[in-house]
Amino acid sequence: ELARALTDAVRFLHDHDDFLVVAHTNPDGDATASVLAMACILERLGKRYTLANEGETPRRYAFLPRADRIVNHGRHPLGRTYTAAIALDCADLERIGDVRNVLAPNAAVLNIDHHVTNTRYGSVNLVVPQDAATAQVVYRLAQAAGVALDAELATCLYAGILSDTGGFRYANTTAEALRVAGELVAAGVRPDVVAERILELLTEPQLRLLQRVLPSLERYGDGRIACLTVTLEDVAAAQATRGDLEGLVAYARNLEGVAVGVLFREDAPDAVKVSLRAREPVDVARIAQEFGGGGHVRAAGCTLRVPLDEAKRRVIARLERETEGLSLVP
Ligand code: 5GP
Ligand code: MN
Ligand code: MN
Repeated sequence: ELARALTDAVRFLHDHDDFLVVAHTNPDGDATASVLAMACILERLGKRYTLANEGETPRRYAFLPRADRIVNHGRHPLGRTYTAAIALDCADLERIGDVRNVLAPNAAVLNIDHHVTNTRYGSVNLVVPQDAATAQVVYRLAQAAGVALDAELATCLYAGILSDTGGFRYANTTAEALRVAGELVAAGVRPDVVAERILELLTEPQLRLLQRVLPSLERYGDGRIACLTVTLEDVAAAQATRGDLEGLVAYARNLEGVAVGVLFREDAPDAVKVSLRAREPVDVARIAQEFGGGGHVRAAGCTLRVPLDEAKRRVIARLERETEGLSLVP
């Protein structure tokens, strides 16, 4: 079935000449790197393309080749429509946000993703839940399309896998993910440079935001739930951007004895983005889905259109039910 999806995806690339390439809003490393890897592939196939996202690309990914070509559709609206699109790292099409408005009514969509909650919204669906990152799925597509690895393509693919495995630490760090990563390094990736940029480098706003957010720590459900909260005021005071919030939730999840770490981020007075990170055996993908979101078993998210206090009350109540009497592995 995967072989069939790959064949269909390669045909999709050959059947069209001009593509819109887009990932999810608030793009993370996998989303950004997958878009840029796709740009390398399309260039090698002699295709035209536009790279777009609803918002801006986090600065930490600006070193990736062609990152400056990703159009911030929120600030510089795309002035035309597209009949062929490639959506990357999006479990559902709502995830591309306002970029949806430039898809022609009958636009053909190639859906490339690795989320278990993917809704198979594409005309062609290349969805591989066992892959660590969408970038790993894009690697499969490059192989199937006969596009050889060069250092630029390999760096994008590697950056996506590195990001989504948390630096080869999470449970999605499979033998195959490591094998592909090894092949990418052999093709010219500098793992030290990519890890420094994506995992280590801190911006000053990021550090200031961390100072403000750590005191917000709250524990619920006999300590099995740890919550951090970021208000609009915190973001403004730290002069932080959305990208500076990536990774904050890990402080909650990594606390000893915690089954679920949560980051509540006030996006507007009546919109709260919730990031969920779980320890085995808790499944947060299912819980996020109940709130209209999605994700992976141990890393998922959703947005609640209610004030901050109300969002916290609802999500914490649901998590308390989930984690009651739970014993953690290990
Ligand atoms: P994060 O908490 O870092 O935003 O997201 C964690 C995981 O959940 C990512 O794989 C992300 O794609 C997914 N995710 C986050 N928010 C949403 C959402 O609102 N809807 C869906 N379908 N997935 C989400
Ligand atoms: Mn993602
Ligand atoms: Mn991903």
